[in-house]
Amino acid sequence: MCRMKQGLKLIVSALSLTILCILAQAQDVITVSTCPKRPSIPVTFKVDCSHLSDLATKQLCRPFAENQACKVFWVYRNITGIRLEGTCPTFTYTIYEKDKFPHPAGEGGVALRCGADYIADYSVLIKSDIGPYDVHEILHVYQQELGALPYQHILFGPSMAEARRETGDEKGYEEALIRLKAEMKGTEEGFAKGSIRPENQCLSAELYTEASLYLKDAKNVDEFYRRLERGRSKEMAERQGRFNRMYDAISGGTMKQYLLAHCPRF
Ligand SMILES: [Zn+2]
Repeated sequence: MCRMKQGLKLIVSALSLTILCILAQAQDVITVSTCPKRPSIPVTFKVDCSHLSDLATKQLCRPFAENQACKVFWVYRNITGIRLEGTCPTFTYTIYEKDKFPHPAGEGGVALRCGADYIADYSVLIKSDIGPYDVHEILHVYQQELGALPYQHILFGPSMAEARRETGDEKGYEEALIRLKAEMKGTEEGFAKGSIRPENQCLSAELYTEASLYLKDAKNVDEFYRRLERGRSKEMAERQGRFNRMYDAISGGTMKQYLLAHCPRF
């Protein structure tokens, strides 16, 4: 009898331990599906912080999740016009400590089909005017809708700068503008000196063009996504051509000569 009672006690305590573990794990996975000003949002954001051991870092997972669901998601929805819920009803971030990141060293984050794996230092631990947020890996997921790209970070400079501005991260926006202008200056100097390798010339001209169009009118960044033809051709000249035609249309026909001087096809 006594043995049976002890056995029962053991089972009960094992069960409650399991329940406690599940509860603790659930707290480590933050899910945001409503926002203060929006009772329902089309994409549910999940941030899995169960791989983190530091409690203070874990506490940043909720503000990060809320920024993604209630700010960044909407900003990119407006910029790109893309309805992410069509392919991704749920977007999941999984956060890791640097030494446990399941991807090659040197990567800070890796975009997946409907989410991203991220090192804590580059995601939840980022400090900004609005707290921790991500405008990089989520943009890779949005851009999956564009078809074949000439470069994995095409349109990233203007899109991320504008996203920082629209989320309210003024300082981040100012820094992004400084970087964009420095890159443009580098390209101008590179072409003048002839130091840009032939295989990089078209991409350099494209990145220069998108940055200059954005600096001319911030609304042009929305046009990049709306005017680009979707295409699946893997041929590089064709991918570059699709982007060139879009840049030139937005510029009112003034960029064609510059782009053609550095790209094989238009
Ligand atoms: Zn990237």
